[in-house]
Amino acid sequence: MRVLLIGGGHTHVVALRHLARNPVAGLELHLVSPDPTTSYSGLLPGHIAGHWPRNTLEIPLETLCNAANVTFHTTEVTHFDPMKRTATFANKSFFEFDHASLDIGAVAAIDGPESLRTLGVPVKPLGIFADRWSQFLADVQSQSLPPHAAVIGAGTAGIELALSMKYHLDSLKMDNPVRVSLIERADAVLLDGTARLRKLLTKALGHAGVAVNTGASVTHASNETLTLDSRNRVPSCFTALATGARPHAWLAQAGMATHEGFVVVDPTLRSVSHPEIFACGDTAHLGFDPRPKAGVYAVRQGPVLAEQITRLAKGEALTIYRPQSDYLKLISLGRRRAVAEKWGLAFNLPGLWSLKRHIDLKFMKN
Ligand SMILES: Cc1cc2nc3c(=O)[nH]c(=O)nc-3n(C[C@H](O)[C@H](O)[C@H](O)COP(=O)(O)OP(=O)(O)OC[C@H]3O[C@@H](n4cnc5c(N)ncnc54)[C@H](O)[C@@H]3O)c2cc1C
Repeated sequence: MRVLLIGGGHTHVVALRHLARNPVAGLELHLVSPDPTTSYSGLLPGHIAGHWPRNTLEIPLETLCNAANVTFHTTEVTHFDPMKRTATFANKSFFEFDHASLDIGAVAAIDGPESLRTLGVPVKPLGIFADRWSQFLADVQSQSLPPHAAVIGAGTAGIELALSMKYHLDSLKMDNPVRVSLIERADAVLLDGTARLRKLLTKALGHAGVAVNTGASVTHASNETLTLDSRNRVPSCFTALATGARPHAWLAQAGMATHEGFVVVDPTLRSVSHPEIFACGDTAHLGFDPRPKAGVYAVRQGPVLAEQITRLAKGEALTIYRPQSDYLKLISLGRRRAVAEKWGLAFNLPGLWSLKRHIDLKFMKN
């Protein structure tokens, strides 16, 4: 049985670890990813804040593949035909499979004027975002650029990044004053969060000195300034775009059943229209029990996917995936502090940052 794993997302990483520990006879596995490493999002804010180096967030995908006896292809899928069970790679090679699994994440949703789309830095792919941030820091340290940055989009990721960026820029102790702004179109930050979490994060933003602009949209971006619809100007030489997730365009073109462009799956993680195809992580829409896009769900789907592939190879019936109804959200505050939320309750307690670091580093070690 020939299985093609497309993308090195969190689910495939966990599935590879399981398959490396539990090899299956008669299974020919391939994984295609544009990079031999993939980045773990939970550790990105701490890297942006300067708490750990870049390599801390890198998962060695190709090495994992070698350990699991999976053939690694350093390229990306550009065309996918679930009916014919074929994929075309960017390097022009053509691949036939019996089953495939899609774990290609999502792309940053980039709205706004052309100037912002050109100059803004999408938070995904995470690796490219981290590289651009490092370059900006180097320019600030050499005094080629002032320490002025902004984040567009005040969801959890945007707030966490704004706090991390402010903390790192402050720690450089440059003569030029640090300016970090958070710009949000809605009238409040974290509209999809609970009132208690919103209150805690709003307080943290104020305490850190991040300038929050709500009810504001960018109408023009230049190398050093963002102009808002109020005509106010915000200084920014590095503008992060944390404006949400959109599906990869080629998913809809592949002819599978989709919801807002994401592949609709059943409780076995198979496409409801093309059962030979699995979809997981942000790529999937859990049609039977929808959940928000979060790495936690992607990670939990890893053992399930490994189990499904193993059962298919052995000719056994597939297992059922039941997503958890809620999860512990740990949001870092730039400095070595974090807040937590679960079941609608939010906390700001000492030790939460260490707990988050422990959980994230444990994931990397497993
Ligand atoms: C700043 C930030 C912080 C976050 N923090 C958290 C957190 O603390 N907890 C949490 O639960 N979630 C968090 N998230 C959300 C989390 O990042 C995503 O939900 C998670 O990464 C989804 O994982 P995934 O498996 O869907 O794929 P991803 O991790 O997005 O990986 C997709 C992979 O597919 C590859 N790929 C893409 N296109 C192709 C192609 N055509 N062919 C081959 N390969 C391809 C990409 O290169 C990439 O390696 C955060 C997000 C951001 C931006």
